[in-house]
Amino acid sequence: MKKLPKDYIEINGDPFIISMMYAIPQNMTGIAVYEKVGFGNHAIVHKDMWEKIVKLIPILKQKKLKLKIFDAYRPPLAHKMLKEIIPMDGFFAANPERSQHCHATAVDVCLCDENGNELAYPTKVDAYTPYFAKQIQEGKTDEFFAHLQKARHDYNAPEIAEAVKNRQFLKQLMESVGLESLPHEWWHYNLPGGRDYPMPEL
Ligand SMILES: [Zn+2]
Repeated sequence: MKKLPKDYIEINGDPFIISMMYAIPQNMTGIAVYEKVGFGNHAIVHKDMWEKIVKLIPILKQKKLKLKIFDAYRPPLAHKMLKEIIPMDGFFAANPERSQHCHATAVDVCLCDENGNELAYPTKVDAYTPYFAKQIQEGKTDEFFAHLQKARHDYNAPEIAEAVKNRQFLKQLMESVGLESLPHEWWHYNLPGGRDYPMPEL
């Protein structure tokens, strides 16, 4: 990848695991969109976002945890492609300007143990499963939207106590360094005011 402008940082190395979901076909679109646009498996954020994320490193190391990153900066061209593949409401923002990922001020993450195994959560990141991905690619959304209720921070059920605890710990951790959660996506964290940042073509 070409050299980054000075305001942007590529996240790399321990305790981070870089696993960009749109760099592989295992995502809701079924297409490795980041490969198609020549971006690949890179987790890039604005330096103001990095200033928050860097504070996680000693905490993660002390707790023997890793942060797996599924999405960070999203090239605007890739966002347009994602929206074309799944144009329905409730998936991708209407345009790149609306998505904080395109401003390099959002990340999709989960915590892993020291061996890189994802901790349990009420859903997978992006509520992805191969089954739901297939449904959505066929234009069927009802079953998935019902499942998506489990991605909310206020979702709770006694049989998933461990998953709820992990979700709450992740939220507390990310908020402790100054990032913002979204009520309906447990994996998504924003830099406050991040949509006011420029939308680079990286
Ligand atoms: Zn996100």
